[in-house]
Amino acid sequence: MARSLLVTGAAGFIGANFVHYWRQRYPGDCIVALDALTYAGNRANLAGLEGSPDFYFVHANICDYPQVLATLREHRVDTLVHFAAESHVDRSITGPDAFIATNIVGTHSLLQAAREYWLGGAQPLPHRFHHVSTDEVYGSLAPDAPGFHEAQQYQPNSPYSASKAASDHLVRASHHTYGLQVTTSNCSNNYGPWHFPEKLIPLCLTNILRGLPLPVYGDGSNIRDWLYVEDHCRGIDLVLQRGTVGETYNIGGNNEWCNLAIVELLCDELDRRFHAEGTLAARFPRAPAAIGGRARDLIRFVEDRAGHDWRYAIDAGKISRELGYAPAETFETGIRRTIDWYLANEAWWRPLLPG
Ligand code: NAD
Repeated sequence: MARSLLVTGAAGFIGANFVHYWRQRYPGDCIVALDALTYAGNRANLAGLEGSPDFYFVHANICDYPQVLATLREHRVDTLVHFAAESHVDRSITGPDAFIATNIVGTHSLLQAAREYWLGGAQPLPHRFHHVSTDEVYGSLAPDAPGFHEAQQYQPNSPYSASKAASDHLVRASHHTYGLQVTTSNCSNNYGPWHFPEKLIPLCLTNILRGLPLPVYGDGSNIRDWLYVEDHCRGIDLVLQRGTVGETYNIGGNNEWCNLAIVELLCDELDRRFHAEGTLAARFPRAPAAIGGRARDLIRFVEDRAGHDWRYAIDAGKISRELGYAPAETFETGIRRTIDWYLANEAWWRPLLPG
């Protein structure tokens, strides 16, 4: 039976990838893409979907309870996938208020609207509320500690991760207290198409192509687990189809890299592409490889982020054992697809950059 999905934050990086993934995989479903279009939201991310049958864009803030409730009612939504968030750790350090407003108050408001629509009538309506969260809620790991598992104690260290942790708890409580049918996933760092160029991988790619410095925090030794964004979408899909209500699933790539190694990989990979494809030098004349240089020479070590977590790693054993999850992309293939996308979509990223 066709579903009716409300996807919050659908014009952002992962939300947009999810909506494209879902439309391709379940073309008969109705998708309502809701987004406040903050600096991180971009309707261009939904190009190709707008105007297609059973696709609706709603420009709204998740804190707007009446509008969210009206949207749930109008489209008879049965599945809500909640991506909307303030998501950049650096911004949470300089301006935490927006993180509290959207990630905590916004999630609360969304839960209230969902509860009113699905559980407020004479008979509860069939439904699922899936909450998308991050591995950052678990805090930081020592070098050889095992990866985060679902029963790990929460130890959020930044205003971003603290606000996401609070939202996870609100989602959990709405299940235990009110019986809302919720699932939550906590995922590691994503990369891929439509990634806003303030984040490490797209920032490096677009800076190399423009011959600009590549800032690396501290000595670049902080470690993250990286997952191709479509593999995250596949994980959420599995949780929606087969996950147990009330449960949390960690999603990861078993793919740990220190920041400096990622930046060097991107430098070497783009240099290689310039040597192999003569047309790139004409398109991006300021890239080091266009003028006989090396992208690695753009690397600059900058003062470390305040409270910078040392290492994140995910133990994805539960989703793999219980739901049969495994990422489809290796890091090599995922990075290649990402570089291909940024090279082919300069018209998307250029307007998002200052200057
Ligand atoms: P993003 O910043 O690219 O997109 C967030 C989207 O939410 C934007 O389109 C923005 O306009 C929208 N939004 C922000 N505030 C809103 C509000 N009040 N009402 C409605 N819409 C609003 O973020 P992302 O990287 O796509 O992350 C999506 C979700 O996945 C977040 O919840 C994040 O915590 C989580 N997550 C991200 C990663 C990652 O590596 N990017 C990893 C794990 C989990």
